[in-house]
Amino acid sequence: MTQPEGTGTGRRPDDAYDVVIGGAGLAGSAAAILLARRGARVALLERRPDPDAYKVLCTHALTACAYPVLDELGLVPALEKAGAVRNEARWYTRWGWIAPRAAPGGPDLPYAYNVRRSTLDPLIRSHAAQTPGVELLLGHKVTGVLQDAGRTTGVRVETPDGERELRARLVVGADGKDSAVAKLAAIPTRRHGNGRFGYFAHFRDLPLPGGIGQAWFLEPDMAYSFPNDDGVTVLAVLPDKKRLPEFREDLEGSFHAFVRALPDAPPIDSARRVSKIIGTVDHPLVTRDPTAPGIALVGDAALTGDPLWGVGCGWALQTAQWLAEAVAPALTGGGDLDRALASYGRTHGRRLRPHQRLAVDFARSRPFNPLERLMFAAAARDAASARHMYLFASRLIGPLGFLAPAPMARAVAVNIRHRVRGPRRAG
Ligand SMILES: Cc1cc2nc3c(=O)[nH]c(=O)nc-3n(C[C@H](O)[C@H](O)[C@H](O)COP(=O)(O)OP(=O)(O)OC[C@H]3O[C@@H](n4cnc5c(N)ncnc54)[C@H](O)[C@@H]3O)c2cc1C
Repeated sequence: MTQPEGTGTGRRPDDAYDVVIGGAGLAGSAAAILLARRGARVALLERRPDPDAYKVLCTHALTACAYPVLDELGLVPALEKAGAVRNEARWYTRWGWIAPRAAPGGPDLPYAYNVRRSTLDPLIRSHAAQTPGVELLLGHKVTGVLQDAGRTTGVRVETPDGERELRARLVVGADGKDSAVAKLAAIPTRRHGNGRFGYFAHFRDLPLPGGIGQAWFLEPDMAYSFPNDDGVTVLAVLPDKKRLPEFREDLEGSFHAFVRALPDAPPIDSARRVSKIIGTVDHPLVTRDPTAPGIALVGDAALTGDPLWGVGCGWALQTAQWLAEAVAPALTGGGDLDRALASYGRTHGRRLRPHQRLAVDFARSRPFNPLERLMFAAAARDAASARHMYLFASRLIGPLGFLAPAPMARAVAVNIRHRVRGPRRAG
């Protein structure tokens, strides 16, 4: 899949590119495709040599915010063909199940896909490799950044054939949570503790009610389960960290016991586990400035959320799209790159920071706060409130939209009505 050096574009390998991207995961591959389609010459560097490498530590439920980017990338037909499952879900709360459904006679609920990373990552990477203007360089690990008068102008990479330098007008860090690019460019990192740990595994023969995803909000513990491509169901538990020492003593036994105790528990004992039980016991949330002179960060490199919300893949794709839209005209038309980067930074902050603030607070492993109680209770009792919550969970609206006066007023009315009618019905 790696293009032979010096072919394709007719340029020698160390010639300058418009963009060098470190990391050919979701964010990097998407950014490469979207920038090259807009006319940029892109070097896409991936430290792993295997074109089919994929991120193991992920439960790969792509929320509906990902769909427009998957569509622009042209990946939807291939995902459908690969058996990716359109993601509907219902959520258990102490008020009962929240089951978002389309309004009668209204449009379908927006969706994206549950699809294993072993399917998704090679697909998007090969799509990038086939995009004219993208040079995918596998086995290329970013080990340094080149700087000139405080501005990043390229990267130093370790390759199977030795070290080399690649210069570009823009260096993109798409290299995940522990971003080497961010570190090498001394971009400050803010880490926020996560009060939960997580373990998950893949199963066959694990049917879910209605064939759709389920999530359990147990305050503070969490669990979720999603059907994926090829009949594989992923099942994840995210307990409070206080339970970790006891949980670890017998990982398999604890995992099974946790699942068995869930309300309307999936039938784990009759299912076949087809992966190891994989986990992360310390997964801080990370926030970085998404730009610096000559640099942009996308995906987890810029902002790593809490895995609990299953939004990182969608944001990896969205941030790639926002970046390409902001900087491509400057890169290819000789415009002001710094202004374009500032514009990307503003979009990134406006769209993701409010979500991250909420996630950081919820990651303290606390029960619902009063506002959340209001909204979740209403969503369990009222179809319109459930749809509203679905839009928020899909990251199609932000916290301000979620807590806008009209839906809040509706939630209050729903809950009051429930209180008044409850005793009446009981009587
Ligand atoms: C337990 C867990 C469960 C999750 N579940 C979900 C979920 O259900 N839904 C969801 O949307 N999100 C989920 N996420 C988050 C999601 O996995 C990430 O947000 C997403 O993978 C970010 O994509 P990325 O492209 O930014 O980074 P990555 O997918 O991490 O890709 C980074 C790439 O950069 C490469 N790289 C790293 N360093 C270098 C270097 N120095 N040089 C060159 N290349 C380099 C890596 O090899 C990799 O290919 C989960 C995360 C965790 C931890």
